[in-house]
Amino acid sequence: MRLIFIGPPGAGKGTQAARIVDHFNIPHVSTGDMLRAAVKAGTDMGKVADGYMKKGALLPDEVVVGIVRERLQQDDAQRGVLLDGFPRTLGQAMALDGMLAAEEIALDAVVLLEVPDELIVRRIVGRRSDPDTGAIYHLEFSPPPAEIAGRLVHRKDDTEEAVRTRLDAYHAQTAPIIPFYEAKGLVKRVDGVGKPDEVAGRVLGVLEG
Ligand code: AMP
Repeated sequence: MRLIFIGPPGAGKGTQAARIVDHFNIPHVSTGDMLRAAVKAGTDMGKVADGYMKKGALLPDEVVVGIVRERLQQDDAQRGVLLDGFPRTLGQAMALDGMLAAEEIALDAVVLLEVPDELIVRRIVGRRSDPDTGAIYHLEFSPPPAEIAGRLVHRKDDTEEAVRTRLDAYHAQTAPIIPFYEAKGLVKRVDGVGKPDEVAGRVLGVLEG
């Protein structure tokens, strides 16, 4: 199974992707997670990425395409993959197309998680993640168990200002890839409004239905 998850920031891509990769037993390849790990490790790439990410701006295509190309060559990615947060521009989508075509590999679906902009800011500003397990919570909509609440972290780019920049980037740079995949008949639209379990049921429904 080879899948792409597309949607605005805060649409629930990370939360839903974690469930789908368990279900299909495929690796979860999140460019955002890989970049955050590079920032934390203080690598050269991490230092460059940090400046873009704090502002909510996209990194240059060649940087992100290089990371994904390397990741897709690893053994575990041969049985399938869920790409979360990539591609995010038409240039990235075309680069991915070239990589897959070279290996004679086809995508199964592009899941588009749809959530209106006005809900996004509320979702993102209350979002917290568990640095130990990667689990994602929301202070109001999906509260964490009391015993782990103290170790949760708030992403540096989950501020209202950065969210607005990320939403603008989504509409200007990422949304244009939807017609690209629609022309290939791959897009499955899923309503991302609702409890994580309800949305997960819808995602599985479009993939298995
Ligand atoms: P995410 O966790 O997917 O919301 O990504 C967090 C941030 O990482 C984004 O706001 C960008 O700064 C950067 N990023 C992640 N994926 C990409 C990508 N495919 N292209 C460019 N920048 C990216």
